[in-house]
Amino acid sequence: MESVTEQMKEYVWSASKKNRYTQCGFHWKMIFEDQITSKTDRRYADVGTIVHETIKTFLRMQEAKTASHPETKDLLESIMKDLWDNSLNTLKPRANKCLDNFSNFFIDLRNKCPDLLRGAIIEKKISTTINPIDPIKIRGIIDFYSPVLGLLIDWKTGAAITLYPPMAFQGKMYEILIRSLNYEMPKTMFLMLQNNLQIDLPAMTDSWLIQELISCRDGVLAGQFPKRRGALCAWCPFQIRCVTDGICLWNL
Ligand code: SF4
Repeated sequence: MESVTEQMKEYVWSASKKNRYTQCGFHWKMIFEDQITSKTDRRYADVGTIVHETIKTFLRMQEAKTASHPETKDLLESIMKDLWDNSLNTLKPRANKCLDNFSNFFIDLRNKCPDLLRGAIIEKKISTTINPIDPIKIRGIIDFYSPVLGLLIDWKTGAAITLYPPMAFQGKMYEILIRSLNYEMPKTMFLMLQNNLQIDLPAMTDSWLIQELISCRDGVLAGQFPKRRGALCAWCPFQIRCVTDGICLWNL
C-alpha cells in the first residue's frame, strides 16, 4: 500500500482544498481524508453553479459578435431559464441581480475593448506542477482570461467588499495556472456579482503561495488537523463529530 508521503506526491491542491485546511484542519479531514458525506444546504452553491454556467454559455456564444445591452440581458436570461431549477425560486432575485451586474460589466468592457474575447479562455480547468525542488501539483478552473487585455477575472456570486485571504490565495493560484500556459503575467480581479464591486489582486510573490501550500501539505503529512473555531462553524455539518471527537461514549 502507498505511504501517505507517496500519496501526497500525487495529491492535487485546489484553492478551495487549501483554504478549507487553513480555515479548519478538522473540517478538511472530515471531507478530504475521511470522505464523510454530509447533508448541507447547497442552494446558494447551486445558484452559483447556474450563474457560472449561464455566463460560460453566453461568452462562448458571443465570442464572434457584439451585443447591445438589451440583447445581452435577454440572451443571459434565456440561457438561465433553460438551466434553472424551480426548487431554487426563492433565490431567483439573487441570480437575476448577478446577471444584471454581469451584463452591465460585460457591455462596458466590450465597448472599451471590442477584441475582448479574441483567444479568450472561458471556464477552463488547468493543472500544473510548481516548485521543482519540492514539487506540488495544483489545479483550478479559470472563469475568464482575455489574452488581449492580459486580464484574468473570477466571477463571484457573493458580495465581498474587500479582498480576504482565501480570495487572495485563489487569485494567486489562478495567476500561476494561467502563466503555466505561457500567457502574459495577468492582471487578476474578482467581480462581485451581488454588489457589482471589482476587487483587484495586488502583486504577490509565487514563493508566498508555495510556502502556504507546503505548510498545509506538511500539516496533513504530520496528521495535524487543528480545529479552528470561526465563521465556518455556523454552517459546519461536522459540529457533533467535532464536539465528540476523541470521546469514547460508552466510557462516559
Ligand atoms: S465546528 Fe468549527 S471547529 Fe469544528 S470542525 Fe466545524 S469548522 Fe472546525
